[in-house]
Amino acid sequence: MSEQKAARGYLSSVLGCRCPRCREGNLFKHKMSFRFKKTMEMNKECPVCGQPTEIEVGFYYGTSYVSYALTIAISVASLVAWYLIIGLSTSDNRFFYWLGCNAVYYFCYNPG
Ligand SMILES: [Zn+2]
Repeated sequence: MSEQKAARGYLSSVLGCRCPRCREGNLFKHKMSFRFKKTMEMNKECPVCGQPTEIEVGFYYGTSYVSYALTIAISVASLVAWYLIIGLSTSDNRFFYWLGCNAVYYFCYNPG
């Protein structure tokens, strides 16, 4: 691998689902759409630098812990924001509205 400086920043490449090595190639074959069968299809290798996306079985297993922690942190932050802006009560369904909005947010944040 050449030691050229990546054009994208680290956070930009993570949020844009770019190759971890060159930060240019897309990890997913298709952009986000309502064709759910194709949305999560990944390239076998980076289309720019050829980095395999599955180096060995279970190589990215540890990322699920990071993903889970980020999901919980974002959900708690959204619940706190909902509580401060809209409020929560046991006498109505505001909590369930938050659950629905949180689910829609995660759907929209789906990579691809
Ligand atoms: Zn690449």
